[in-house]
Amino acid sequence: MPSPRGRTDRTMTTIGILALQGAFLEHEAMMRRLGAQTVQVRKPQQLAGLDGLILPGGESTTMGLVAERWGLVEPLRAWVRSGRPVWGTCAGLILLAERATGQKAGGQPLIGGLDVTVSRNYFGRQNESFETSLVAPVPGDPPVRAVFIRAPAIVESGEQVTVLATVAGHGEEVAVAVSQGALLATAFHPELTADLRWHAFFLERVRAGA
Ligand code: GLN
Repeated sequence: MPSPRGRTDRTMTTIGILALQGAFLEHEAMMRRLGAQTVQVRKPQQLAGLDGLILPGGESTTMGLVAERWGLVEPLRAWVRSGRPVWGTCAGLILLAERATGQKAGGQPLIGGLDVTVSRNYFGRQNESFETSLVAPVPGDPPVRAVFIRAPAIVESGEQVTVLATVAGHGEEVAVAVSQGALLATAFHPELTADLRWHAFFLERVRAGA
């Protein structure tokens, strides 16, 4: 959020959170606990001056349609292409993906940029939501608990993509956290736990100018 004077403080790291739908308040609270300044992004001009951007979980079809209606799809694509840090969680991962399977008829607008194929409701049918233990974002740290809700999985990834975490899927090991340059994506919801480590990891990348 802008400071009370209506300006953002340039000495602080400013994280924008796409606030069209879904779990944006939870991301905002965690980023603030880590000392970052946050901006809820609903208009293209709110992208200016951000150091990093979070695309939250929720419903990617709805988020894509609202983004289209509000003229945000092209500005978001340009932002991602500019090489600045972006983190997509769950539906946000779907929006960041170059390719998605299991989309609604007629498709859905994706922002793209991340060279992966996501299966939209990979864990959705049998297993609406579950929690599991996952490797921490920083190798060697104790594992994190990860919350999956109608979660996608990354079923294919390009050469530039680094797989950070996998879980056992339907007879295969599937990627659930990846990075590619300044892009970070997780199929689960670190903002729905009390563990700040994924948020700290993203903020560290932003501060390092990832
Ligand atoms: N599967 C959902 C979608 O397609 C994502 C679910 C979530 O973000 N928790 O948008």
